[in-house]
This record gives sequence, structure tokens and C-alpha cells, in this order.
Amino acid sequence: MSLVYIISAPSGSGKSTLVNELRKLVRDLVFSISYTTRLPRGSEQNGREYFFISRPEFEAMIRSGDFLEYAEVFGNYYGTARSFLVEAERKGYDLLLDIDVQGAEQIKRKIPQAVSIFILPPDRKTLEWRLKNRSLDGEDVIRRRLATASREIENYPKYDYILVNDRLEESTEALRAIVLSERLRHSGTKRSEDEIRLSEMAGRFRLDNVQERVRPIVASFAKPLAQGED
Ligand code: ADP
Ligand code: 5GP
Repeated sequence: MSLVYIISAPSGSGKSTLVNELRKLVRDLVFSISYTTRLPRGSEQNGREYFFISRPEFEAMIRSGDFLEYAEVFGNYYGTARSFLVEAERKGYDLLLDIDVQGAEQIKRKIPQAVSIFILPPDRKTLEWRLKNRSLDGEDVIRRRLATASREIENYPKYDYILVNDRLEESTEALRAIVLSERLRHSGTKRSEDEIRLSEMAGRFRLDNVQERVRPIVASFAKPLAQGED
């Protein structure tokens, strides 16, 4: 049985960067490419970042039961095709999903052993700086993303692991440890010393063990918003 990993994060936290790093380090993972009704942005290509389809096409896929989960995010549909899980199972690989909180909840209901990971920025100022520095969005969009992030971040307690993406190298190592240690846990085989160390490292990012670290981050998002933010 394939393991399913769910990764969610507010925009700008570094999720794409981390997932790209993980791709280089962990074998036998299928990366699900979602379907969406939103238009491509920047250099995005159909079939690489997303499959870009029309609303009627998306609704036809819903009716045919093609989605493992789907949700409406920022006024557009986004969905994970069942075919990616089928492909992962056929290959004997695990499946990685980059989906939002609503999608994560649906997957957890259908596949309770799915492993969920929430990525947090170190604080609100850093998120704002990263969004500006990425230079993909205008001021208005950045303000909206920050306001959305404040709401999304409140969902962190629904996830199994919380990763604060401060130093990229450390976060990448932590993400790798989480993925590999969950594989070990589900394989039930005896662990080597290295594997025990890996599991201990992953354990540090379990929800129960990060409350102290996360509290000030959540607080940095909870302060009254500046004018123009909703
Ligand atoms: P997301 O996919 O979550 O929207 P990105 O991966 O596009 O976020 O990252 C947002 C910006 O922050 C990018 O410019 C990226 O290079 C930068 N970034 C990502 N992780 C880190 C990090 N740990 N430290 C500093 N900058 C980072
Ligand atoms: P963006 O438009 O910025 O690429 O993505 C917006 C949000 O949609 C992100 O939070 C992303 O994780 C989420 N998303 C992307 N694909 C899916 C999907 O297939 N299902 C769900 N539920 N959310 C998705």
C-alpha cells in the first residue's frame, strides 16, 4: 500500500522550494499534479505545475468520480485525480500531495493513515519579506496572501507534523527525516542506529512537540491587521 503525504502551507512559506529539494533526496515518490480551473501564472506549463482545465471540464470530472478530493480555493476549483494514487500503487511508490487545508481534511477522512505536514514561515514579517522578494505578486495580492495566511495558520493543529521553514537546509533535512521515518514506521522492519536517529529527528516536528516553537509564530499573525487587509 502506498503511503500518502500531504503538505500544506500558506503561500510564500517555501513549500515549492522544499518540495523541489525533497524530490532530489527521496526516491520512489510520485508527485501528484492537481487539476485546476485557475489560469496559468508566469512560466507555469500545463501538465507540469497543474493541469489547467475549464470549469465545465472540472465539473464533468467531479461527476465521473475522478477526484480523490477537490475544493474551491480563491474562487477556483482544485482537485487531486485518483489516477495519481493508482499510479503510485502500481509502481509501489508513495504519493505526495500539495493541497490546501480543505483537501487535507478530505484525504484524512478517506485515508486515515495519510501523513500530514504543515509548513510555517518563521513569522509574519519574514513571510511578507519572502513574498515581496519572490517578486511574483503585486502589493495588493501580497496583502491578500498575508490576510489568508493568518486564517490558514490557525489550522496547524489538524496536522501530524509542523515544520517551521527558517533555514532551508535544516527544513529540507527535517522534511526528508519525516518522510523516511514514516516509511520505516509503516514497514515494521527492525531499524539501524542511523534509522533510529532519523526517527528521533522526525519526532521533534510532531505536533505535540512544537507547541512552544509555534506559539509566537501564530501570535505574530494574530495582531491587528494593517489598513487594507481583510
Ligand atoms: P510557496 O511555494 O510556499 O508559495 P516558495 O517556495 O515560492 O513558496 O518560496 C517563497 C520565496 O521564499 C521564494 O523566493 C523562495 O526562494 C524563498 N524561500 C523559500 N524557503 C526559504 C528559506 N528557508 N529561507 C529563505 N528564503 C526562502
Ligand atoms: P496556487 O493557486 O497558489 O497554486 O494554489 C492555491 C492553493 O490551492 C494552495 O494552498 C495549494 O496547496 C492548493 N491546492 C493546489 N492543488 C490542490 C488540490 O488538488 N486540492 C486542494 N484541495 N488544494 C489544492
